[in-house]
Amino acid sequence: MDFTIPRHVEAIAHRARQFVDDEVIPLESELLRTGADLSIEMLQDLRVKAKAAGLWAPTMPVDWGGMALSIQEIAPVFEAAGRSLLGPMAIHCAAPDEGNMHLLHNWANEQQTERYLAPLARGETFSAFSMTEPPPGAGSDPRMLRTRARRDSGDWVINGHKWLTTYGEIADFFIIMAVTDPDVHPYQGTTQFLAPRDTPGIKILRDVPVMGAKDFGGHVEILYEDLRLPASAILGGEGQGFMLAQSRLGPARLTHCMRWTGIAQRALEIATEYASEREAFGGTLTSHQSVQWMLADSEMELKMGRLLIHEAAWRLAQGEQARVETSIAKVQVAEIIDRVLDRCVQICGGRGISRDLPLSTWYEKARAFRIYDGASEVHRMVVARDVIKRYGA
Ligand SMILES: Cc1cc2nc3c(=O)[nH]c(=O)nc-3n(C[C@H](O)[C@H](O)[C@H](O)COP(=O)(O)OP(=O)(O)OC[C@H]3O[C@@H](n4cnc5c(N)ncnc54)[C@H](O)[C@@H]3O)c2cc1C
Repeated sequence: MDFTIPRHVEAIAHRARQFVDDEVIPLESELLRTGADLSIEMLQDLRVKAKAAGLWAPTMPVDWGGMALSIQEIAPVFEAAGRSLLGPMAIHCAAPDEGNMHLLHNWANEQQTERYLAPLARGETFSAFSMTEPPPGAGSDPRMLRTRARRDSGDWVINGHKWLTTYGEIADFFIIMAVTDPDVHPYQGTTQFLAPRDTPGIKILRDVPVMGAKDFGGHVEILYEDLRLPASAILGGEGQGFMLAQSRLGPARLTHCMRWTGIAQRALEIATEYASEREAFGGTLTSHQSVQWMLADSEMELKMGRLLIHEAAWRLAQGEQARVETSIAKVQVAEIIDRVLDRCVQICGGRGISRDLPLSTWYEKARAFRIYDGASEVHRMVVARDVIKRYGA
């Protein structure tokens, strides 16, 4: 395996880090201090600066204004951007737009590319991926999808109930997973549809309040009620919904890991700085072995996480599906991030809990990563199946 980061990619990662330090962290501090939420105007302002710094849509082709980096090359760039929760949004590599751009780039036809991908890649629109349903619909088990699309005089009419659709408050269009043929296995009978936000039949019920500060764009609950779409709204092909979802979710899980590694790395730096200045019991906190071990465990685990990301990314780059490796990386990195953030809050004591530092916000926000894009238990199930297949009697 070759995990070499080319020189030009190192330079981009360096530039991304500089940009986050100079432009993003001051805004992050301001929002923390005032308790305000990020507005679209603030984001657009950051994006103008990011483009001027030569940082834009790292995964998109150069023709689309992007940087054409491979899945392996984006790792250090996403980590650098991910040193603030605002960084990936600023350089246009945040979920869900980043995964949706990847999906559209691979599967949209010419008209869909022009209508949906082009403005999205330029940062003029936002997008949402609408798969999860509240119980008794599809969550961890996507085969339980209840949203149905039925043919009606050449169109498709969708009815269903979704929730936790990220960016649902601001998305200009939704990518909707719906069952088109209930008589076959869901893996063959499910289709993805592209629906502009203003299509009659899309009813946003509410933004679902989630743990920690409000997320930009929200995580909405939606009713699709007699949502009528033309056949041209199908992304990929009829019955290919799960295949497309898998092609989106594999890399998207890894990019979440890359971005969260940036947050955890910065948390470790903040905690180490605090521990090296703060005195207790006759010395700095760094002179106490239990604090040293928390720092060492965090450093070691972050390194292990990066290696798992690199291995899965390398396999994807070779054209493998890398399902098991992606699951291993997702479980381990999500759990490592939680442990690192927990230790960093602990080391910073009361200041760690306060909103003076971003640690408490990150600690709250990171918790969801063990659930979204597949709960840890579901990914462990994927790994266990592989182990049993290989070694079972
Ligand atoms: C912040 C956030 C953003 C999200 N954004 C989106 C989005 O943009 N689009 C979208 O479609 N969805 C989104 N989701 C939904 C997310 O993908 C689901 O929450 C996730 O797939 C789990 O489904 P569920 O919540 O229905 O949990 P459930 O299916 O009810 O599972 C609950 C728990 O059961 C356990 N469990 C499940 N299966 C197994 C098993 N086989 N073995 C052992 N234990 C198991 C796990 O601990 C799991 O956490 C988002 C969720 C969050 C929290």
